Amino acid sequence: MDWRIETKCIQSGYRPTKNGEARVLPIYQSTTFLYEDAQSMGDLFDLKAAGAFYTRLSNPTTDAVEAKIAALEGGVGALMTSAGQAASLISVINIAHAGDHVISASAIYGGTFNLFNKTLRELGIDVTFIEPGATDEEIEAAFRPNTRLVFGETLSNPALHVLDIEQYARIAHAHQVPLIVDNTFPTPINCRPFEFGADIVIHSTSKYLDGHATALGGVIVDSGNFDWAAAGKFPELTTPDETYHGVIYTEQFGNAAYITKARTHLMRDIGSTPSPMNAFYLSQGIDTLHLRMERHVANARAVAEYLLTDDRISWVSFPELPDSPEYPLVRKYMPNGTCGVISFGVKGGREAAIKFMDNLKLAVIATHVADLRTCVLHPASTTHRQLNDRQLLECGVTPDLIRFSVGIENALDIIDDIKQALDQI
Ligand SMILES: *Cc1c(COP(=O)(O)O)cnc(C)c1O
Repeated sequence: MDWRIETKCIQSGYRPTKNGEARVLPIYQSTTFLYEDAQSMGDLFDLKAAGAFYTRLSNPTTDAVEAKIAALEGGVGALMTSAGQAASLISVINIAHAGDHVISASAIYGGTFNLFNKTLRELGIDVTFIEPGATDEEIEAAFRPNTRLVFGETLSNPALHVLDIEQYARIAHAHQVPLIVDNTFPTPINCRPFEFGADIVIHSTSKYLDGHATALGGVIVDSGNFDWAAAGKFPELTTPDETYHGVIYTEQFGNAAYITKARTHLMRDIGSTPSPMNAFYLSQGIDTLHLRMERHVANARAVAEYLLTDDRISWVSFPELPDSPEYPLVRKYMPNGTCGVISFGVKGGREAAIKFMDNLKLAVIATHVADLRTCVLHPASTTHRQLNDRQLLECGVTPDLIRFSVGIENALDIIDDIKQALDQI
């Protein structure tokens, strides 16, 4: 039975089947698991059988949450990681190696930008960044014979650019490479990238999916739609892996080849595993994701409408506003709403922005966004402070930009807080 997404938030992943089994997902806080004989354990090591034998590779609590997220995105499998950063890294190095090349939208999270611009280059993977709104020709021109993937954010953090998923997918596929998208901000409640041609979705689950700001995490979801063998560019998936007795991922695991290799090869070697406890927190968060996203969107709309009427605000960026340049893409990819994050500038630039933030009472200054408590951040002096002005602008960040993450409190209280903070500048 294919449930609607609200039902999947609550019911997918873990379901008890036997008398007396826990109704709520149990926390298997165990690194190791019993096997009755050496053969059963050996089959697991040879990838001939599935099952938990060591929590670095899989754990029953984590498995259930992965299944829930795969169901929400409509994928064939998912791999949870210890943080969103690990999901971004693993999603790329699963199929790109020294000497290869990656194309990425430039409007991405600052941490991802650094990961690509510094660490990937240090690993010998070259990266070309593409400006928002690039034409087909401009994206085409970035391709090289060694390009292995295209990467973007469905709704970029913090600039809120909307990726034209169909455009990027069409061009990536014409070059026989997959499109990987970070869907952290809209969540699968508001955007399901696989329906528009994306092949791999990643998330920082530390944001709306957890929703309560309690557990760091990341996840990679495989649509199962990309034909790695037909593309002819991914020997790591289509030729024998000697570290698993010559397994060929595409032959043994079919359309789950990519996500299986990410787990059995990279999670084995890197070990950026989530704790079972954090997987449980994430599951609890996702139980109410559909309700929370609805309220985040409604509150953000109310705050955006208010900001537009206050002449102490110099600009408001919220892609749901009908005169936003992103509006047509929002209608197409996120018709029910985007998320709770709004960017705006306070008249008086950087200094006024900082003063405004210091005077907020309900909204706390936090190096975080996208959870149920309203919070605020000045990217140029915090999350993005390692970037120079040119790189800042490439990420879509101006020095006066305030990133306001609207929570699920009463919208009138949030607006009152903004008003009194503006009064004090
Ligand atoms: C926060 C964030 C990340 C990084 O995730 P962590 O869980 O903090 O490692 C990646 N992408 C986006 C869009 C984010 O907002």
